[in-house]
Amino acid sequence: MPAHLSNEQLIQTAKEFGTPLYVYHAEKIKEQYQKLTNGFSILNTKFFYASKALTNINILRYIKEIGCNVDCSSINEVRLALHAGFEPQSILYTSNGIAFSEIEEAVTAGVHINIDSLSNLEKFGKKYGHSYPVGIRIRPNIMAGGNLKISTGHEGSKFGIPVEQLNKIEEIVKANNIFIRTLHIHTGSDIKDADVFVKGIEVLFELIPHFPELEVIDLGGGFKVPYIPGEKETDINLLAQKIKETFDNHPIAGGKKFQLWFEPGKFLVSECGYLVAQVTVLKETAGAIFAAVDSGLNHLIRPMMYDAYHHINNISNPTGKLKSFTVTGNICETDTFAANRELTEIREGDYLAFLNAGAYGFEMASNYNSRFKPAEVLIRDSKAKLIRRRDDMNDLLKNQIELG
Ligand SMILES: *Cc1c(COP(=O)(O)O)cnc(C)c1O
Repeated sequence: MPAHLSNEQLIQTAKEFGTPLYVYHAEKIKEQYQKLTNGFSILNTKFFYASKALTNINILRYIKEIGCNVDCSSINEVRLALHAGFEPQSILYTSNGIAFSEIEEAVTAGVHINIDSLSNLEKFGKKYGHSYPVGIRIRPNIMAGGNLKISTGHEGSKFGIPVEQLNKIEEIVKANNIFIRTLHIHTGSDIKDADVFVKGIEVLFELIPHFPELEVIDLGGGFKVPYIPGEKETDINLLAQKIKETFDNHPIAGGKKFQLWFEPGKFLVSECGYLVAQVTVLKETAGAIFAAVDSGLNHLIRPMMYDAYHHINNISNPTGKLKSFTVTGNICETDTFAANRELTEIREGDYLAFLNAGAYGFEMASNYNSRFKPAEVLIRDSKAKLIRRRDDMNDLLKNQIELG
């Protein structure tokens, strides 16, 4: 897989800051953002970076600097976005299953809100009536995305208000005169096929006549990026073209000028990130040669949690002989990064780079086994800067109360 940071650059950064290390490349984020804004220039579109993918404050500030808005999955992400300097009108809070008090805080902050349950919609209506424009998240009952664990719009999904409960939504909206400005769907992650978005829009079309104050159609995130060599990312230009045609051809939506919102997470930050780890132990067995690294599922859980493929480059021996290795972590738990994968020959002490580690990498890291969370480095204009120091023993103890 083509890496946009060179092996030398990654090794040098690993030597300077130690391993395991998350390394992010700012310009790659910008490149991805420009693909979106160029492709969608034919429509009235706004992008909100789904910050749960990677919330380091410097990444949020970079996202703001390149002109992108931000989508939040918790009130703390809203607080982080405000701390990063985003204006409230550039912040969107799309939550699920939250206490109404978080919605109240979001209203006080003045950010956009997508509501995900009849229960919170009713509480919202009672308290704010028509005074605060709001969005509702619809569950369109569409299967989409790379696999079931990352599919969020299907009939068994907890996310959104099921589309078949339209009558109930309408009842609540009418009874409280709620200003529904946005209809939102987010059907999953790793969506390659433009038709899935078109299907989602078609579900929303049925609803549009029921909400006369509607201004925004929010289609969520889920654009695909390549993880496996040969995979393609979502064709943004084609997608924009198809979405435009779908709107133009629709008798009701065609005449109205809706603003279109998207919430890309992976698409913006997946490829910008690398987890660099050092090989600690080689173990030859009858079934496999295990290469253990100084990291594990505590730092990158996606392979074990989602069966996700992360490409691995042996950046210390990029031209070595190809051989089959099983790459694991050092955690007391099965934490396989890659089973029987052909890699250029691995030796103890080599640095391995795990690709596509920007999205849902550090963000899902934990201190399991009382290991330290990795440091994070941002490379911008070819300069590497530490943006989070590695944990130390104080971090493991800081919230604990030692009883006598
Ligand atoms: C996670 C999430 C996204 C981003 O998904 P990606 O696959 O990373 O693009 C967008 N919108 C909502 C509501 C989400 O929960």
